[in-house]
Amino acid sequence: MSQKTSKKWSNEKKELVNNSKLNLLRVYDNSYTDDESLDILKSHNLDETCHCDFCGQRIKYVSVLEFDKSTVISHFQIGKECMSYLFDYGMKIEGLENAKYQVENAVKKLIKKSTERARAEKYKKELSVYITWLDSLDKNFIERNSFLKFINTRLRTGDGVVTMKMMAVLESMIKKYTPISTENLTEKSKSILERIDRLLKEIELAYSTPKSVTAEFVSSVRQYVVKNGNASQRQLECLNGISERIKKMRKEQAEKFLKKAFQPEVKKETEYIPF
Ligand SMILES: [Zn+2]
Repeated sequence: MSQKTSKKWSNEKKELVNNSKLNLLRVYDNSYTDDESLDILKSHNLDETCHCDFCGQRIKYVSVLEFDKSTVISHFQIGKECMSYLFDYGMKIEGLENAKYQVENAVKKLIKKSTERARAEKYKKELSVYITWLDSLDKNFIERNSFLKFINTRLRTGDGVVTMKMMAVLESMIKKYTPISTENLTEKSKSILERIDRLLKEIELAYSTPKSVTAEFVSSVRQYVVKNGNASQRQLECLNGISERIKKMRKEQAEKFLKKAFQPEVKKETEYIPF
C-alpha cells in the first residue's frame, strides 16, 4: 500500500487522519447547496465552504467528515482530490472503504444534477417559445402524446440534450397544435373512442370471438386515437368500411337465426352512426 499523501498536507493533518475512525456525513455541491446539506452543516455548527480544510484549494464538491478522535476540531470539509489522497493514505482508517464509494456516487449524482440545472437554464432562455407554448396546451393532451410528454419534461428539467430532430418535431407541432385545437381534440377523441368501442363489441358478436384480424386492426386505430387525440381521414374511412361490413354480417346472421327459430320475432336493427 502506497503511503502517498498530498504534499500540501501539514504533518498535523497527516497525524490526524492516521488510524482515525472516519464518518462521512455528507457530500454537497457548494454552487448549489441543497436544504438537507444545509441542515446537516447547521446541526454541526458548520458553514458552507468553497475551500478544502486540508489543502486550502478552491473546491466545488465538498465531503463533510467527522473524526472520532478527541481533537480541537472534529469536522473537516475537504475536496475530491484530498478525499482520494485520504484513500491512498490509509485504507486502515475505519469506514474509509465505504466512504470511497459513497463519495464517488454522491459526486456522480451532483455532477449529473449540476449538468441538468445548467441545461434547464439554457432551455429556459433559448427555447422559451416552446415552453410557453406547452404551458398553453391542454395538460391531458400533453399527457397522452408520448413525444410532448417527454419533451415537456426535458425542456423543464434538462434531463438530456434536445437534439435537432426533436427541434424539428417541436417546430412542426407548434404549427399544428394550439390551445383551442388541443381542447377540441380532447372532445373529439372521446366521441371517436366511444364509437370504436361500440364497433368492437359488434365485431366480437359478428365473429363470435374477441380475437379477429378486424378487431385487431380496430384496436390499433383505438390506440392511435388514445395517443394522438384524433384519427386520420384514412383511418376514419377504414372504420366506416368495417362498420358497414359488420352491419351486413350481423343482419345476415339475424336473418339466418330468425329462419331457424321456432317462433321468429322481429328484432330492431342496431343503429350505426358513421364516423
Ligand atoms: Zn484539498
